[in-house]
Order: sequence, then structure tokens, then C-alpha cells
Amino acid sequence: MEHTNLLPAHEWPTLDQGWVWLCGAGPGDPGLLTLHALNALRQADVIVYDALVGPKILEWASDSAELIYAGKRGGKPSAKQRDISLQLVDLAQAGRRVLRLKGGDPFVFGRGGEEAQTLVQHGIPIRIIPGISAGIGGLAYAGIPVTHRDVNQSVTFVTGHDQNGNTPSSLNWSAISQGSQVLVIYMGIKHISRIADALLAAGRAADEPVALVSNATTPDQQVLETTLGTLETDVEKSAFEPPAIICVGRSVLMRQVLDWQGMIIGTPPRNLDPLGRGRPAEAT
Ligand code: SAH
Repeated sequence: MEHTNLLPAHEWPTLDQGWVWLCGAGPGDPGLLTLHALNALRQADVIVYDALVGPKILEWASDSAELIYAGKRGGKPSAKQRDISLQLVDLAQAGRRVLRLKGGDPFVFGRGGEEAQTLVQHGIPIRIIPGISAGIGGLAYAGIPVTHRDVNQSVTFVTGHDQNGNTPSSLNWSAISQGSQVLVIYMGIKHISRIADALLAAGRAADEPVALVSNATTPDQQVLETTLGTLETDVEKSAFEPPAIICVGRSVLMRQVLDWQGMIIGTPPRNLDPLGRGRPAEAT
């Protein structure tokens, strides 16, 4: 695609030869890219991208850019991870202008920290460009505020997979359950029953609201509202597919008033006061 430079006037950094920019592409909707990401897409001569980076975003690359797919999905053992990092090193050492593009934010369950460390260990200059993480932006597209004054003073981001694809054994589910009113679980679909059981065993209520948002911010976005007790059966019935974010906590109720995508297509809000405050939202 031919581009005019649409970036607003600013001292945009130059992606020089031999550099790697490690960049988040956001959860899917191309409009959620940062301007730094767009600046990077315009300059890179090679783009190494993940499974979760949509084709629409890659269309904004320069015509001559080489696109290299480095996807891996589903918590499979990631022997390839080191290969990806070393490929970035090779490309940079060959004098390319390298953009490493990852879904969401590169430092949120994205192994961006390891990739960046390998690059630095090999003397490659880097720039990090954060992105909107699915656990925040994806929930916002479902009408779920990740914090709300009447619900939570903390939020915990949890991964449902460890390096071997198992439920993370190092996680203290009991401490997590007790310590945080709202949990946002990435990569949780595969082990959903074990996660639900662990949370119930740790004392979370069976009627606690839960939402799953798959393909968040894309035209394929689907939202399932359920509870901790019915999570497993509802997910089985719905044939819900990853990638999906799971949100556990009362903030899910806010979707009843904040499902803004539903409102755009004419569905009225289900409940103007889902937290049952009985007073205007801003009143203290
Ligand atoms: N770095 C990414 C997360 C990578 S881990 C970020 O910051 O968002 C991959 C997991 O992210 C998926 O299994 C899923 O739980 C979540 N995820 C990423 N994109 C998503 C999307 N568009 N919709 C729902 N979940 C998404």
C-alpha cells in the first residue's frame, strides 16, 4: 500500500539500520495502535510478527518490508522462542531496520522481556514501544472497566499457562483469590476448569460474575457472561475459542450499563445501576 506520511508533526524517532524496535500492536483493532507503532511500521524493512497481530495492521507496513511470521499459539513448549530472539539478532547484525511486532503489550505475558534481554546481550540497540494489553483494552471493548471505585482497589493479571502449557504450579491461587477483587486471566481457556476449581476452593463465591471476551476489539469479538460456578459448562456449551481474556469479579456487572458496542447497534443498557448503588454514579 502506498502511504502519505499521516503522522502529525513531532520529533518521531528514526528506526536506524541494525536496530530492533520491540513493539506492541494492541489487542486487534488497528485503531488501537500507538503512533509510535505506526511510525515503526512505516520505517521497518523487516517485520517479525506474532499470531495475534492482524493483517490489517500489517497492511500499514511499507511496500518493500519483508514480513516474517513468528507465531506460536496455545502454550506449546516454546523451544522456538530462543530461535526467534536469535533471528532478531541476525537481522539486526545484517544491518536491517527490524520491527518486532507483538500482540497487546510486548511486556505483558508476551515474552518481550526475554527477547529484549537477548538483544541487549548481543549488543543490539533497542527501543520498546508499549501497546494496549488485551486485559485492559479488550475488556474495555466489552464494556468492562478493569477498575471501578465501587468494586476494586486492585487488579491482578494472571496467566493460565506456565512455560510447559500447564496451569501455573507456582501460582498461589489462594493468595491471589484473597488478595485481589478482580482477576484478569490471560491464556486461561485451556485450563478453565482447573482455574475455576482453584478459585472456588480458595473461597471465591460460585455466583461471582465472570466474563470471557474472545477476539476482543476485532469484528469477531464475542462476550460470554457467566459466573464462577457455571463457567466451565457455559464455556463448553458456547464453543468459545481462544484468544480470550477471562475477567473474574464484580466489575463484570458494569457491562450491563456500559456495553457500548451493543448500544451502538441499538441494544439499550440492561441496567443503569448494576452495582446497586441507588445514587448517581459520581456521588460519593
Ligand atoms: N502481550 C499480550 C498477551 C499475550 S498472551 C497482551 O498484552 O495482550 C496471549 C493471550 O492474550 C491470549 O491467550 C489471550 O488470553 C490474550 N489476548 C490477546 N489478544 C486478545 C484478544 N484480541 N482478545 C482476547 N484475548 C486476547
